[in-house]
Amino acid sequence: MSAYMGAAVLLYLQELIDWDSYFSWRKGESSDVEVDRAALQEVLETAAQICSEMEPALRAGWYECAKLEGDEVVYPPHIKETLDKLRDAGLISFGVEEQYDGFELPSFVANVILQMVSRADAGLMTILGLQAGVAEDIQKFGSEELKRAYLPRFASGEVMGAMDLTEPQAGSDLGAIQTRATKDGERYFIDGDKIFITNGGCEIHLVLARDGDTYDQSKGTTKGLTLYLVPRTLPSGERNGVSVTRLEEKLGIHGSPTAAIHFERAEGFLVGNEGEGFKAMLSLMNNARLGVAAQGVGIAEAALSVALQYARDRVQFGRAIAEQPLMKDRLAKMTLELEGSRALLYRACALVDQNHAIENALARERELSASERVELEALFERNDTRIRLLTPLAKYMGTEAADSITRDAIQIHGGLGFMAESEVGKLHSDAIITTIYEGTSEIQVSFALKEIGRGALTVVFEALEQELKTFEDPKLKAQADKVLEGMNLILGAAGSLLADFNYALMSAQSLAEVVASVIAGAELLKQAKADPRRFDLAASWISRRMVDLESRCKRIKEGSVDRLDRASAIIALND
Ligand SMILES: Cc1cc2nc3c(=O)[nH]c(=O)nc-3n(C[C@H](O)[C@H](O)[C@H](O)COP(=O)(O)OP(=O)(O)OC[C@H]3O[C@@H](n4cnc5c(N)ncnc54)[C@H](O)[C@@H]3O)c2cc1C
Repeated sequence: MSAYMGAAVLLYLQELIDWDSYFSWRKGESSDVEVDRAALQEVLETAAQICSEMEPALRAGWYECAKLEGDEVVYPPHIKETLDKLRDAGLISFGVEEQYDGFELPSFVANVILQMVSRADAGLMTILGLQAGVAEDIQKFGSEELKRAYLPRFASGEVMGAMDLTEPQAGSDLGAIQTRATKDGERYFIDGDKIFITNGGCEIHLVLARDGDTYDQSKGTTKGLTLYLVPRTLPSGERNGVSVTRLEEKLGIHGSPTAAIHFERAEGFLVGNEGEGFKAMLSLMNNARLGVAAQGVGIAEAALSVALQYARDRVQFGRAIAEQPLMKDRLAKMTLELEGSRALLYRACALVDQNHAIENALARERELSASERVELEALFERNDTRIRLLTPLAKYMGTEAADSITRDAIQIHGGLGFMAESEVGKLHSDAIITTIYEGTSEIQVSFALKEIGRGALTVVFEALEQELKTFEDPKLKAQADKVLEGMNLILGAAGSLLADFNYALMSAQSLAEVVASVIAGAELLKQAKADPRRFDLAASWISRRMVDLESRCKRIKEGSVDRLDRASAIIALND
């Protein structure tokens, strides 16, 4: 079995996701779970094979950048070749529904593929990761005409997409968007400039623009923003007013083109309703956030595997450095960070999938009794709350883990890690961006805080409590009790944040860390129950993270907004 198809992936594919419910809700009586699950495994094995085959060429081509030739963006050869292989296997845009010629792969499978691609080359993943999100946004919010026109082309890989949000003055704050949409009869025309657009040379741009009619009134807010599909080539075959004006040079993910785009009276087609573009874009971004979490997990896997091999081979003081206690502790810590992030990601994906399947079941009117319908609707709501909290946490954890694991991998290589050709150095350069795009880490923890403020902890902890109370094996139960204790400490601390919003914001990262600790702790225990070889992993996560949780909760409880004044005073020492 390829290293790309690790034991944890198989565990979720075979045991830790309730595929029976998933397929029966999604397909009704026509489902044959064993056949369907085997098909998913086959898809993953194909992706694993392509990625492991292409890994040497992708790593060797790491420095090669996409180029702007005239108005065309040209991928480096190693990126193009791998994209062609993925396209031949039907693996460019994963979630397109079968009625539009897609595979409609579950989020779990799609994100594991992205993780594999990222392990081979994070730049390629950045291009590919967008495709599912763009297509699924059209699928969710576009008109039937738009869907028929574009989705089969996304599914076949004939067209690719980009997500055009960022402008020089509008980064984290999308309320500052100035790109203007002007309505002319029943048509819409877009004028403005976007920057940092991944895959900007593609055919289909999903553009967030401000409605001309309410431009001045809505300025500075996310109201009045609408999402448009802006093709480079119009349905008439004419060229639309979309041009790439520049490609950026970057610290990493060189194979992924990052473009400045100019729109000049470019015709756009509504995706969703006027003024509801931010909502539609958030849906794409949430999808993409799980993708970037998977990107982090993939990069971290690559760095850990290279570092482990090096540590086993490199001898100092008469033994492999992997045997030095400090190095052993570092390698174990890296593994914990990776597996904790993976656990959060896979559970978030499983919940997204369950809700997608429930939506299908609810849409098939006749099969459900009234009470079944009420029960499913309630489960959908609870899952939705959990997804809204787990998504930013998974993005935050997966990408920060990639940053720290790749940095540790450099340290394990000593001086070699700092050489220009260092493989782990390249992985670290790639990892940095994951904590920035699709919403920075600060934005993710602020989103998590917002969900907690809306009461998400009650729903998430209720589900965790139910799971933790099912462990009967004394070893697992003892660990589960520690997680339950941690949850009580969090509830005690979270209350003290309600008093002051700025103090809550200041503590958002700590709160995200402790909440992620208990969710991942419970998930790792489920893994240990399914595969006892993973018990030490779960126990070590719980013992390390619960000590950290205790001190963070104590600090949150004892503090107040005065800490902001203290921070100002400390920063002023630099003046
Ligand atoms: C390689 C690359 C590819 C990209 N691809 C795309 C793409 O395809 N499409 C697209 O639209 N955009 C894309 N982006 C843009 C990316 O999403 C933004 O760079 C990102 O959202 C951050 O915005 P900013 O760079 O303006 O930073 P700013 O928003 O100016 O943030 C600077 C710093 O301030 C912090 N900060 C800002 N606000 C707050 C707050 N309220 N609380 C706490 N901290 C805060 C941030 O966390 C960050 O650390 C890409 C960027 C890069 C570098």
